Amino acid sequence: MSNNGIMGNQYPRLVIRNATVVSGRGTPAEGPMDLVIEGGVITDLVKVDPISLHRYPADWERPGGDRVIDATGMCVIPGLIEMHAHVPPNHEKCGPLGTDYAFKLWLAHGVTTLRTVGFGVEEMLYAQRELGAQSPELPIPRLFVMHGCLGANDLSPDEAREQVQRFRELGADGVKLIGAYADVLEAICDEARKLDMDGGVAVHLALNSEVDAVMAAEAGVRTLEHTYGIPEAALSGVQSFPLDYNESDELARFRESAYNWIEAEDYPERILDVLDVMIEKGVVWNPTMAVYESNRDLERGRNLTSNARFGAPALRKSWEPSPGLHASYHFNWRTADEIAWKEKYRIWMEYLGVFFDRGGTITVGSDAGFLYALFGFSMIRELELLQEAGIHPVDIIKMATTNASKSLGLTHLSEGIRKGYAADLAIVDGNPLDNFKVMYGTGMEGFMDDRVTKVQTGGVRWTIRDGVLFDAQALLKDVEDYVDELAE
Ligand SMILES: [Zn+2]
Repeated sequence: MSNNGIMGNQYPRLVIRNATVVSGRGTPAEGPMDLVIEGGVITDLVKVDPISLHRYPADWERPGGDRVIDATGMCVIPGLIEMHAHVPPNHEKCGPLGTDYAFKLWLAHGVTTLRTVGFGVEEMLYAQRELGAQSPELPIPRLFVMHGCLGANDLSPDEAREQVQRFRELGADGVKLIGAYADVLEAICDEARKLDMDGGVAVHLALNSEVDAVMAAEAGVRTLEHTYGIPEAALSGVQSFPLDYNESDELARFRESAYNWIEAEDYPERILDVLDVMIEKGVVWNPTMAVYESNRDLERGRNLTSNARFGAPALRKSWEPSPGLHASYHFNWRTADEIAWKEKYRIWMEYLGVFFDRGGTITVGSDAGFLYALFGFSMIRELELLQEAGIHPVDIIKMATTNASKSLGLTHLSEGIRKGYAADLAIVDGNPLDNFKVMYGTGMEGFMDDRVTKVQTGGVRWTIRDGVLFDAQALLKDVEDYVDELAE
């Protein structure tokens, strides 16, 4: 893999023919349709089903273009918006071209926008954002940078305001922080609002944070990451930690984290009150279930075939249980821990469904790079987990696209697939509504009707970012070669 390597192609007029279209606005699949893309914008959507065709005048001509893609049997969805991205810097766990590697994995899974929430890599991200804007054919997703406010708890509210102002000057779209004192969180939210930052504030409430979801909602945060602070807000006091519990012990922390939802389940009315405050204040819930899944089934994470093929060797090594590394706490992981986490997921998913039913906004993010969650693949896994939570796939595609763009103020993407809006699209071999697994880069293995002949289908075939066409399968091949080289 050379840096960037596989480039996208821009055409004056790109036409996708005969596609089944899922708008991303929560409406069912329609089609077949032809999509016309010019100058990065969807300029026409033409129904080509027999009934519609019948209505066109006899001299009607089907749209043509400089490039025509036959999408018969394929589905077109809006480009996915990854709402919890940690972009790896080069020369770290993902090798010398780590950034390019991760970008390609995301693009290869139909992800066209990343909301980045990492710490300490913002300068690199601003540079990549600039590069992507100047050279749109480079395989760089749209970047929406939430500048990480590291060590927020060491700041006074006034110092926190100054930080937010500095982030704004550097080009931040929003602010991300982990936990915080209530007065600091309020100051950060207020300052981000005054500076009109489109992304507002994303907060990961630490397990012991004195600020819970209700306080965070009242302080004015835009998104709550993961699930911390939500069940805690339904408890009268602290969770019933063992008396020798120490928050700084990561193994103990993740072990106990299973019980926040289990304890809160005894207070269903209070959970509803918490969810209703979030809904009333317009807080978006970005659950990132995919990243914690190995807690409920460690062997699943360790044996994912996609990680064996596409995971950078040092990245995979960093996931292996080790007392000395962050987020590698699975040493001494017990049967009881997995059972508790399965129980936690059941309750967490139940209340995600309730939050959705009551009108709450959910988005899709993966937190990839940690705990066996690989870039791109774990976004698709998150779609599957939302379906496990009882949500309809049509609504899940909406969460992964227009819910996200609306919550970030990305108006050009806010209508999904609609004439006059940005051409950020994924062309999928198969129907993701019927089976999200068709979107995995590893595709689908199946058999013909004779039940003898093996067939390989699925995968995102093309990804279109801002009207630029990327060959998703070529990106994947490039990544696979790179991983093989690193392994040698
Ligand atoms: Zn994260």
